[in-house]
Amino acid sequence: MKRKSSYIVLVLFNLAILLNGCHQSSLPQPVTPSVDQNSQVQQTSAMPVYQRKEMITSPAEALQLLLNGNQRFKSGKVLNKDFSADKRSDLLQKGQHPFAAIISCSDSRVPPELLFDQALGDLFVIRVAGNVITPAELGSVEYAVDHLKVPLVLVLGHEGCGAVTAAVEGGEAKGSLSAVIDKITPSVHTATSYGLKGNIFLETCVDLNIHNSVLDIQKSPVIKEYLNTKQIQIVGAKYDLDQGKVSILN
Ligand SMILES: [Zn+2]
Repeated sequence: MKRKSSYIVLVLFNLAILLNGCHQSSLPQPVTPSVDQNSQVQQTSAMPVYQRKEMITSPAEALQLLLNGNQRFKSGKVLNKDFSADKRSDLLQKGQHPFAAIISCSDSRVPPELLFDQALGDLFVIRVAGNVITPAELGSVEYAVDHLKVPLVLVLGHEGCGAVTAAVEGGEAKGSLSAVIDKITPSVHTATSYGLKGNIFLETCVDLNIHNSVLDIQKSPVIKEYLNTKQIQIVGAKYDLDQGKVSILN
């Protein structure tokens, strides 16, 4: 009796699959992303859509939003984002109100919008190899602060930076790459004076280079106005490539 009822269930189950397949055969089927059981990445279909209030004027609040987003990224629980035509149109009509300017290395493994789990219109991003500050980058930061009124400027370097490594290795830089290397070299000289070796030496160069970019931004007369009135905060941060974590440098 038990075997017979199991057989009936099996037949009904197969029939349901068959009917379902016939019904949907002419429709495009959604692609289901495969989930690697060994990774922490989860399907995001069940996650809520990321939302934030439009105007953020507090540097502390802006920094907390970034850190919260990085925590989501690190744990593989990123929120869904609204990329719809309505959203894009809304951003066009209302204009942009990013809450942070990020100066990050161009390294393909360090995309600020992804690792801070932010959406369209959230971040004003300036990317350049070695996260150095030349007049073009500084002008972009000044625009973000003075025109877009971002309350937070964050310089984002990262572990194992290739541009910093190139500066450490020295030699002649081809073409305009020297403009990048020349900005990093003072950090290498400082780290050399510490007598460090190996990876600790390289990572100290990375940290010092982040700090020097923060100092370069602080020197701007335009930025100073906003710093003096505590309307903005400038912070240096470092991204750990394999851990996925952003740490604020003091
Ligand atoms: Zn880099």
